[in-house]
Amino acid sequence: MVERIAEYEIHDWRFKRLASMNARVVELWKGAAWAEGPVYFRDGDFLLFSDIPNDRILRFVPDLTGLGGTVSVFRQPAGYTNGHTRDREGRLVSCSHGHRRIERTEYDGTITVLADRWQGKRLNSPNDVVVKSDGTIWFTDPAYGIDSDLEGFRAPMEYGGCWVFRFDPRDGRLAPVIQEMKRPNGLAFSPDERFLYVADTGVSHDPEGPRHIRRFAVDEAGRLSGGEVFVTCDVGVFDGFRVDTEGRIWTSAGDGVHCYDPSGALLGKILLPQRAANLCFGGKKRNRLFICATTALYAVWTHVNGAQVP
Ligand code: MG
Repeated sequence: MVERIAEYEIHDWRFKRLASMNARVVELWKGAAWAEGPVYFRDGDFLLFSDIPNDRILRFVPDLTGLGGTVSVFRQPAGYTNGHTRDREGRLVSCSHGHRRIERTEYDGTITVLADRWQGKRLNSPNDVVVKSDGTIWFTDPAYGIDSDLEGFRAPMEYGGCWVFRFDPRDGRLAPVIQEMKRPNGLAFSPDERFLYVADTGVSHDPEGPRHIRRFAVDEAGRLSGGEVFVTCDVGVFDGFRVDTEGRIWTSAGDGVHCYDPSGALLGKILLPQRAANLCFGGKKRNRLFICATTALYAVWTHVNGAQVP
């Protein structure tokens, strides 16, 4: 039986100890056309996120009340960026729909192109990105940024698929690691990096298409195997997601945020008034979920801590 407490839908009693039943979801800001790609900078105590159709990266600085903060434009135009993360040196790594590439913002603010072509053909529109502890950069490359002019520039696909790639900044090698997903989207490693989770939002182009997260085993050399369906979304799609220190998945979905344990059991949901696209753990202790949900940025304190580094 599903219990409901305020905005929490409790599918497993354990969820009451993970989410704080006393914590309320706060709408921090509203005014995006489609908010995506949150990344938290603990060193500066601020959040960056994308507003894709408006071609800008926004910076949210929380105030001391926990109820709000200030939003300013970090970069505009921004190359229609979508997902962001930070590398092991703390630099911002971004997926650019407009430039169809993965790029890195250096400490001095200049932008370095990391990967924009595979065997001479342009990437589609990198969507989300994660950095492994060895410094390799893993990203998904669906075609949402070139399907129309809304989130980039309409253009044909060049290499003929929507793949997941690994880029090694040490030698500049780009290699496809998954080639049989429909529309790979969010991705994250388990805390021990033995598994890679990848969402497929292929239902956007086929009513019978995937709306799930798959789980791949990762070996010492970074090779993938397996790829079974880990969880299927019951409302909307899973877009971006993060894992906590215990390996639980906190994922965006059509009705808010879903939390799954490492076996794939649904523990609970945080219901939101708008469709969620992506989220990250932030705050000094990585125990506050920041959620990009359509036009707004929401946040809620939790009892868990995000596993993302730095
Ligand atoms: Mg996405």
